[in-house]
Amino acid sequence: MPFVEIERLVKRFGEEVAVAGIDLNIEKGEFVTLLGPSGCGKTTTLRCIAGLERPDAGEIRIEGEVLASADKDIYLSPEDRNLGMVFQSYAVWPHMTVFNNVAFGLKIRGVGAGETKEKTDKALKLVGLAEVTDRYATKLSGGQRQRVALARAIVYGPRVVLFDEPLSNLDAKLREQMRIEIVRLQREVGITTIYVTHDQAEALVMSDRIVIMDKGVIQQIGDPETIYARPANAFVANFIGTANLMEGKFLGREGELADMEISAGEGRPPIRLKVPGTEGVAEGQRVILSLRPEDVSLHLESPAAPGPNLLEGEIIDTIYQGNFLDCQVRVGPHEVGVQMDHFEQLASGQKVYLTFEPDHGLLLTE
Ligand code: ADP
Ligand code: MG
Repeated sequence: MPFVEIERLVKRFGEEVAVAGIDLNIEKGEFVTLLGPSGCGKTTTLRCIAGLERPDAGEIRIEGEVLASADKDIYLSPEDRNLGMVFQSYAVWPHMTVFNNVAFGLKIRGVGAGETKEKTDKALKLVGLAEVTDRYATKLSGGQRQRVALARAIVYGPRVVLFDEPLSNLDAKLREQMRIEIVRLQREVGITTIYVTHDQAEALVMSDRIVIMDKGVIQQIGDPETIYARPANAFVANFIGTANLMEGKFLGREGELADMEISAGEGRPPIRLKVPGTEGVAEGQRVILSLRPEDVSLHLESPAAPGPNLLEGEIIDTIYQGNFLDCQVRVGPHEVGVQMDHFEQLASGQKVYLTFEPDHGLLLTE
Protein backbone atom coordinates (compact mmCIF):
# COMPACT_ATOMS: atom_id res chain seq x y z
CA MET A 1 0.00 0.00 0.00
CA PRO A 2 1.41 3.43 -0.93
CA PHE A 3 2.09 5.76 2.00
CA VAL A 4 0.07 8.67 0.62
CA GLU A 5 -2.91 8.01 -1.67
CA ILE A 6 -4.80 10.68 -3.53
CA GLU A 7 -7.79 9.48 -5.50
CA ARG A 8 -9.87 11.46 -8.01
CA LEU A 9 -9.30 14.67 -6.05
CA VAL A 10 -11.48 17.59 -7.16
CA LYS A 11 -11.58 21.11 -5.73
CA ARG A 12 -13.70 23.93 -7.16
CA PHE A 13 -13.95 27.60 -6.28
CA GLY A 14 -17.36 28.61 -7.60
CA GLU A 15 -17.23 27.94 -11.34
CA GLU A 16 -13.46 27.58 -11.34
CA VAL A 17 -12.10 24.02 -11.22
CA ALA A 18 -8.75 24.36 -9.45
CA VAL A 19 -8.07 20.62 -9.20
CA ALA A 20 -9.82 18.48 -11.78
CA GLY A 21 -9.56 14.87 -10.59
CA ILE A 22 -6.04 14.02 -9.53
CA ASP A 23 -4.72 10.52 -8.82
CA LEU A 24 -1.36 10.26 -7.10
CA ASN A 25 0.38 7.67 -4.93
CA ILE A 26 3.51 8.47 -2.93
CA GLU A 27 5.80 5.94 -1.27
CA LYS A 28 7.22 6.30 2.21
CA GLY A 29 10.36 8.43 2.22
CA GLU A 30 9.82 9.73 -1.29
CA PHE A 31 10.45 13.34 -2.36
CA VAL A 32 7.68 14.20 -4.80
CA THR A 33 7.34 17.60 -6.43
CA LEU A 34 4.20 19.15 -7.90
CA LEU A 35 5.43 21.31 -10.76
CA GLY A 36 3.50 23.52 -13.13
CA PRO A 37 2.77 27.09 -14.14
CA SER A 38 1.06 29.57 -11.85
CA GLY A 39 -2.63 28.78 -11.36
CA CYS A 40 -2.38 25.08 -12.33
CA GLY A 41 -3.66 23.89 -8.94
CA LYS A 42 -0.48 22.99 -7.03
CA THR A 43 -1.23 24.99 -3.89
CA THR A 44 -4.86 23.88 -3.85
CA THR A 45 -3.78 20.22 -4.02
CA LEU A 46 -1.33 20.76 -1.16
CA ARG A 47 -3.93 22.62 0.90
CA CYS A 48 -6.37 19.73 0.42
CA ILE A 49 -3.71 17.36 1.77
CA ALA A 50 -2.95 19.71 4.66
CA GLY A 51 -6.62 20.03 5.62
CA LEU A 52 -6.84 23.72 4.72
CA GLU A 53 -9.28 23.09 1.85
CA ARG A 54 -12.17 20.69 1.80
CA PRO A 55 -12.24 18.61 -1.42
CA ASP A 56 -15.42 18.57 -3.53
CA ALA A 57 -14.78 15.00 -4.60
CA GLY A 58 -12.23 12.26 -4.11
CA GLU A 59 -10.29 10.89 -1.18
CA ILE A 60 -6.94 11.45 0.53
CA ARG A 61 -5.34 8.74 2.70
CA ILE A 62 -2.08 8.47 4.59
CA GLU A 63 -1.00 5.03 5.87
CA GLY A 64 -4.48 3.87 4.91
CA GLU A 65 -6.13 6.39 7.20
CA VAL A 66 -8.75 8.53 5.45
CA LEU A 67 -7.95 12.22 6.00
CA ALA A 68 -10.58 13.55 3.64
CA SER A 69 -13.32 11.87 1.66
CA ALA A 70 -16.19 13.65 -0.03
CA ASP A 71 -18.20 10.41 -0.36
CA LYS A 72 -17.69 9.28 3.23
CA ASP A 73 -18.07 12.84 4.54
CA ILE A 74 -14.76 12.65 6.38
CA TYR A 75 -12.65 15.76 6.88
CA LEU A 76 -9.93 15.79 9.52
CA SER A 77 -8.66 19.16 10.75
CA PRO A 78 -4.99 20.04 10.07
CA GLU A 79 -4.02 19.29 13.71
CA ASP A 80 -5.41 15.78 13.43
CA ARG A 81 -3.37 14.93 10.32
CA ASN A 82 0.13 15.08 11.81
CA LEU A 83 1.74 16.79 8.83
CA GLY A 84 4.53 19.38 8.80
CA MET A 85 4.20 22.46 6.64
CA VAL A 86 6.62 25.02 5.25
CA PHE A 87 4.83 27.67 3.25
CA GLN A 88 6.23 30.67 1.42
CA SER A 89 4.52 32.98 3.86
CA TYR A 90 5.65 30.92 6.82
CA ALA A 91 7.13 33.64 9.02
CA VAL A 92 9.22 32.89 12.07
CA TRP A 93 8.13 34.66 15.24
CA PRO A 94 10.49 37.63 15.68
CA HIS A 95 9.92 38.07 19.43
CA MET A 96 11.04 34.50 20.16
CA THR A 97 14.47 32.88 20.18
CA VAL A 98 15.36 30.23 17.64
CA PHE A 99 14.87 27.57 20.30
CA ASN A 100 11.40 28.80 21.27
CA ASN A 101 10.32 29.17 17.65
CA VAL A 102 10.99 25.49 17.14
CA ALA A 103 9.85 24.28 20.57
CA PHE A 104 6.51 26.07 20.29
CA GLY A 105 4.88 23.30 18.25
CA LEU A 106 5.78 20.76 20.92
CA LYS A 107 4.62 22.95 23.80
CA ILE A 108 1.17 23.45 22.29
CA ARG A 109 0.95 19.69 21.87
CA GLY A 110 1.54 19.36 25.60
CA VAL A 111 4.94 17.68 25.33
CA GLY A 112 6.95 17.83 28.60
CA ALA A 113 9.95 20.14 29.08
CA GLY A 114 12.62 17.41 28.93
CA GLU A 115 11.35 15.85 25.75
CA THR A 116 10.76 19.28 24.21
CA LYS A 117 14.40 20.23 24.82
CA GLU A 118 15.68 16.94 23.45
CA LYS A 119 13.57 17.05 20.29
CA THR A 120 14.15 20.75 19.67
CA ASP A 121 17.92 20.40 20.05
CA LYS A 122 17.90 17.46 17.68
CA ALA A 123 15.90 19.33 15.03
CA LEU A 124 18.11 22.42 15.36
CA LYS A 125 21.22 20.30 14.99
CA LEU A 126 19.79 18.66 11.86
CA VAL A 127 19.20 22.02 10.18
CA GLY A 128 22.57 23.40 11.30
CA LEU A 129 21.33 25.91 13.86
CA ALA A 130 22.75 24.35 17.03
CA GLU A 131 25.06 27.34 17.50
CA VAL A 132 22.37 30.02 17.44
CA THR A 133 19.57 28.55 19.57
CA ASP A 134 19.37 31.61 21.86
CA ARG A 135 19.42 34.20 19.13
CA TYR A 136 16.26 36.19 18.42
CA ALA A 137 14.72 35.46 15.06
CA THR A 138 15.07 39.10 13.96
CA LYS A 139 18.86 38.68 14.11
CA LEU A 140 18.89 35.80 11.63
CA SER A 141 19.84 35.81 7.98
CA GLY A 142 17.28 34.76 5.33
CA GLY A 143 18.83 31.30 5.10
CA GLN A 144 18.80 30.84 8.87
CA ARG A 145 15.15 31.84 9.05
CA GLN A 146 14.41 29.28 6.38
CA ARG A 147 16.13 26.66 8.51
CA VAL A 148 14.05 27.65 11.53
CA ALA A 149 10.93 27.08 9.44
CA LEU A 150 12.29 23.68 8.44
CA ALA A 151 13.13 22.68 12.02
CA ARG A 152 9.66 23.77 13.11
CA ALA A 153 8.05 21.60 10.45
CA ILE A 154 9.94 18.43 11.40
CA VAL A 155 10.38 18.77 15.18
CA TYR A 156 7.30 16.84 16.24
CA GLY A 157 7.92 13.99 13.80
CA PRO A 158 5.18 14.52 11.22
CA ARG A 159 4.32 11.72 8.79
CA VAL A 160 4.75 13.95 5.75
CA VAL A 161 6.20 17.43 5.20
CA LEU A 162 4.48 19.76 2.76
CA PHE A 163 6.40 22.61 1.13
CA ASP A 164 4.76 25.36 -0.91
CA GLU A 165 7.35 27.36 -2.87
CA PRO A 166 9.45 27.80 0.29
CA LEU A 167 12.38 29.35 -1.58
CA SER A 168 10.65 31.79 -3.90
CA ASN A 169 11.37 34.84 -1.75
CA LEU A 170 15.10 34.17 -1.53
CA ASP A 171 17.79 35.50 -3.84
CA ALA A 172 19.16 33.17 -6.51
CA LYS A 173 22.32 32.13 -4.69
CA LEU A 174 20.62 31.34 -1.39
CA ARG A 175 17.85 29.54 -3.24
CA GLU A 176 20.34 27.15 -4.84
CA GLN A 177 22.04 26.56 -1.52
CA MET A 178 18.73 25.90 0.28
CA ARG A 179 17.63 23.40 -2.39
CA ILE A 180 20.61 21.25 -1.49
CA GLU A 181 20.03 21.76 2.25
CA ILE A 182 16.40 20.70 2.04
CA VAL A 183 17.23 17.56 0.06
CA ARG A 184 20.09 16.67 2.43
CA LEU A 185 17.78 17.09 5.40
CA GLN A 186 15.04 15.10 3.73
CA ARG A 187 17.44 12.21 3.02
CA GLU A 188 18.82 12.35 6.55
CA VAL A 189 15.43 12.32 8.24
CA GLY A 190 13.94 10.07 5.55
CA ILE A 191 10.69 11.95 5.73
CA THR A 192 8.07 11.69 3.00
CA THR A 193 7.97 15.05 1.26
CA ILE A 194 5.51 16.78 -1.06
CA TYR A 195 7.07 19.89 -2.52
CA VAL A 196 5.38 22.52 -4.68
CA THR A 197 7.23 24.76 -7.10
CA HIS A 198 6.83 26.45 -10.49
CA ASP A 199 10.62 26.34 -10.95
CA GLN A 200 11.60 23.42 -13.17
CA ALA A 201 15.29 23.57 -12.25
CA GLU A 202 14.35 23.26 -8.59
CA ALA A 203 12.11 20.27 -9.33
CA LEU A 204 14.74 18.55 -11.47
CA VAL A 205 17.53 18.76 -8.89
CA MET A 206 15.47 17.98 -5.78
CA SER A 207 12.90 15.33 -6.61
CA ASP A 208 12.67 11.57 -6.69
CA ARG A 209 9.59 12.03 -8.85
CA ILE A 210 7.99 15.04 -10.48
CA VAL A 211 4.27 15.48 -11.06
CA ILE A 212 3.68 17.94 -13.89
CA MET A 213 0.36 19.75 -13.68
CA ASP A 214 -1.51 22.04 -16.02
CA LYS A 215 -5.04 23.40 -15.58
CA GLY A 216 -5.77 21.20 -12.57
CA VAL A 217 -4.80 18.01 -14.41
CA ILE A 218 -1.67 15.83 -14.12
CA GLN A 219 0.20 15.84 -17.44
CA GLN A 220 2.97 13.41 -16.50
CA ILE A 221 4.48 11.68 -13.47
CA GLY A 222 8.07 10.47 -13.62
CA ASP A 223 11.60 10.74 -12.30
CA PRO A 224 13.53 13.83 -13.44
CA GLU A 225 15.49 11.98 -16.16
CA THR A 226 12.35 10.51 -17.70
CA ILE A 227 10.45 13.78 -17.58
CA TYR A 228 13.35 15.54 -19.29
CA ALA A 229 14.20 12.87 -21.86
CA ARG A 230 10.71 11.50 -22.51
CA PRO A 231 8.12 14.23 -22.06
CA ALA A 232 4.65 12.75 -22.55
CA ASN A 233 3.28 15.65 -24.56
CA ALA A 234 4.07 19.05 -26.02
CA PHE A 235 3.12 20.85 -22.81
CA VAL A 236 5.68 18.92 -20.75
CA ALA A 237 8.35 19.14 -23.47
CA ASN A 238 7.99 22.89 -23.54
CA PHE A 239 7.64 23.40 -19.80
CA ILE A 240 10.68 21.33 -18.86
CA GLY A 241 13.83 22.83 -20.25
CA THR A 242 13.29 24.32 -23.64
CA ALA A 243 12.26 22.27 -26.60
CA ASN A 244 11.98 23.11 -30.26
CA LEU A 245 8.53 21.94 -31.24
CA MET A 246 7.96 21.54 -34.96
CA GLU A 247 4.71 20.37 -36.44
CA GLY A 248 4.97 17.83 -39.23
CA LYS A 249 3.56 14.70 -40.81
CA PHE A 250 4.38 11.09 -39.94
CA LEU A 251 5.32 9.13 -43.07
CA GLY A 252 5.86 5.64 -41.67
CA ARG A 253 8.07 3.37 -39.64
CA GLU A 254 11.09 1.59 -40.93
CA GLY A 255 12.34 -0.72 -38.16
CA GLU A 256 13.77 1.29 -35.27
CA LEU A 257 13.42 4.55 -37.12
CA ALA A 258 10.58 6.45 -38.73
CA ASP A 259 10.28 9.06 -41.45
CA MET A 260 8.53 12.34 -41.03
CA GLU A 261 8.43 15.60 -42.90
CA ILE A 262 8.21 19.21 -41.86
CA SER A 263 7.43 22.20 -44.00
CA ALA A 264 10.35 24.10 -45.52
CA GLY A 265 8.17 27.07 -46.35
CA GLU A 266 5.91 27.93 -49.24
CA GLY A 267 7.02 26.83 -52.68
CA ARG A 268 9.67 24.43 -51.35
CA PRO A 269 9.55 20.67 -51.00
CA PRO A 270 9.07 19.51 -47.39
CA ILE A 271 12.12 18.49 -45.37
CA ARG A 272 12.32 14.75 -44.66
CA LEU A 273 13.68 13.71 -41.29
CA LYS A 274 14.56 10.43 -39.56
CA VAL A 275 13.29 10.13 -36.01
CA PRO A 276 12.74 7.30 -33.50
CA GLY A 277 9.97 4.96 -34.64
CA THR A 278 7.20 5.77 -32.19
CA GLU A 279 4.52 3.10 -31.85
CA GLY A 280 0.88 3.77 -32.44
CA VAL A 281 1.32 6.62 -34.89
CA ALA A 282 -0.46 6.21 -38.22
CA GLU A 283 0.90 7.10 -41.63
CA GLY A 284 -0.07 10.63 -42.57
CA GLN A 285 -0.84 11.56 -38.94
CA ARG A 286 0.06 15.03 -37.69
CA VAL A 287 2.91 14.86 -35.17
CA ILE A 288 5.11 17.26 -33.27
CA LEU A 289 8.85 16.82 -33.34
CA SER A 290 10.49 17.83 -30.07
CA LEU A 291 14.17 18.61 -30.23
CA ARG A 292 16.34 19.99 -27.40
CA PRO A 293 18.55 22.97 -28.30
CA GLU A 294 21.61 21.16 -26.90
CA ASP A 295 20.99 18.22 -29.27
CA VAL A 296 21.23 20.29 -32.46
CA SER A 297 24.61 20.88 -34.14
CA LEU A 298 25.25 24.02 -36.13
CA HIS A 299 27.63 24.12 -39.10
CA LEU A 300 28.84 27.12 -41.09
CA GLU A 301 29.52 25.05 -44.22
CA SER A 302 27.34 22.33 -45.69
CA PRO A 303 28.61 19.25 -43.77
CA ALA A 304 30.32 16.55 -45.85
CA ALA A 305 28.56 13.73 -43.98
CA PRO A 306 25.45 15.32 -42.50
CA GLY A 307 23.67 12.08 -41.56
CA PRO A 308 19.95 11.71 -42.25
CA ASN A 309 18.83 15.01 -40.73
CA LEU A 310 19.94 18.20 -42.42
CA LEU A 311 18.15 21.54 -42.07
CA GLU A 312 19.20 24.65 -43.92
CA GLY A 313 18.47 27.94 -42.27
CA GLU A 314 19.65 31.39 -41.41
CA ILE A 315 20.64 33.02 -38.15
CA ILE A 316 17.98 35.19 -36.58
CA ASP A 317 19.79 36.07 -33.41
CA THR A 318 22.44 34.91 -30.95
CA ILE A 319 22.49 35.43 -27.20
CA TYR A 320 25.64 35.02 -25.15
CA GLN A 321 24.80 33.02 -21.98
CA GLY A 322 28.17 32.89 -20.25
CA ASN A 323 29.09 29.24 -20.68
CA PHE A 324 27.19 28.72 -23.90
CA LEU A 325 25.73 30.55 -26.86
CA ASP A 326 22.01 30.46 -27.71
CA CYS A 327 21.28 30.78 -31.42
CA GLN A 328 17.91 31.20 -33.04
CA VAL A 329 17.83 29.85 -36.56
CA ARG A 330 15.03 30.28 -39.11
CA VAL A 331 14.25 27.08 -41.04
CA GLY A 332 11.33 27.74 -43.37
CA PRO A 333 8.40 28.58 -41.10
CA HIS A 334 10.17 27.19 -38.01
CA GLU A 335 12.38 28.87 -35.48
CA VAL A 336 14.97 26.46 -34.11
CA GLY A 337 16.94 27.19 -30.94
CA VAL A 338 20.47 25.80 -30.90
CA GLN A 339 22.68 25.75 -27.84
CA MET A 340 26.38 25.87 -28.72
CA ASP A 341 29.25 25.29 -26.34
CA HIS A 342 31.79 26.78 -28.72
CA PHE A 343 31.73 30.33 -29.96
CA GLU A 344 31.51 31.31 -33.57
CA GLN A 345 31.14 34.76 -35.04
CA LEU A 346 27.59 34.62 -36.34
CA ALA A 347 25.76 37.45 -38.06
CA SER A 348 22.00 37.70 -38.42
CA GLY A 349 20.92 36.52 -41.81
CA GLN A 350 23.98 34.27 -42.16
CA LYS A 351 23.31 30.90 -43.78
CA VAL A 352 23.89 27.87 -41.52
CA TYR A 353 23.26 24.11 -41.53
CA LEU A 354 21.70 22.16 -38.68
CA THR A 355 22.02 18.45 -38.05
CA PHE A 356 20.77 16.14 -35.31
CA GLU A 357 20.94 12.44 -34.51
CA PRO A 358 17.68 10.56 -35.14
CA ASP A 359 17.77 9.34 -31.51
CA HIS A 360 17.60 12.90 -30.23
CA GLY A 361 14.28 13.64 -31.86
CA LEU A 362 11.13 12.83 -29.95
CA LEU A 363 7.74 12.44 -31.59
CA LEU A 364 4.72 13.74 -29.75
CA THR A 365 1.12 13.35 -30.80
CA GLU A 366 -0.54 15.95 -28.56
P1 ADP B 1 -0.89 27.29 -8.16
O1 ADP B 1 -0.51 27.06 -6.75
O2 ADP B 1 -0.52 26.17 -9.07
O3 ADP B 1 -0.40 28.59 -8.69
P2 ADP B 1 -3.59 27.46 -7.12
O4 ADP B 1 -3.86 26.12 -6.56
O5 ADP B 1 -3.24 28.54 -6.17
O6 ADP B 1 -2.49 27.35 -8.27
O7 ADP B 1 -4.85 27.95 -7.94
C1 ADP B 1 -5.51 27.15 -8.89
C2 ADP B 1 -6.72 27.92 -9.41
O8 ADP B 1 -7.67 28.06 -8.40
C3 ADP B 1 -6.38 29.32 -9.89
O9 ADP B 1 -7.12 29.61 -11.03
C4 ADP B 1 -6.78 30.19 -8.73
O10 ADP B 1 -7.17 31.46 -9.17
C5 ADP B 1 -7.96 29.43 -8.14
N1 ADP B 1 -8.04 29.62 -6.69
C6 ADP B 1 -7.14 29.21 -5.77
N2 ADP B 1 -7.54 29.52 -4.53
C7 ADP B 1 -8.73 30.16 -4.66
C8 ADP B 1 -9.67 30.73 -3.74
N3 ADP B 1 -9.46 30.68 -2.42
N4 ADP B 1 -10.78 31.30 -4.26
C9 ADP B 1 -11.00 31.32 -5.58
N5 ADP B 1 -10.18 30.79 -6.49
C10 ADP B 1 -9.06 30.23 -6.05
MG1 MG C 1 0.73 28.24 -5.51
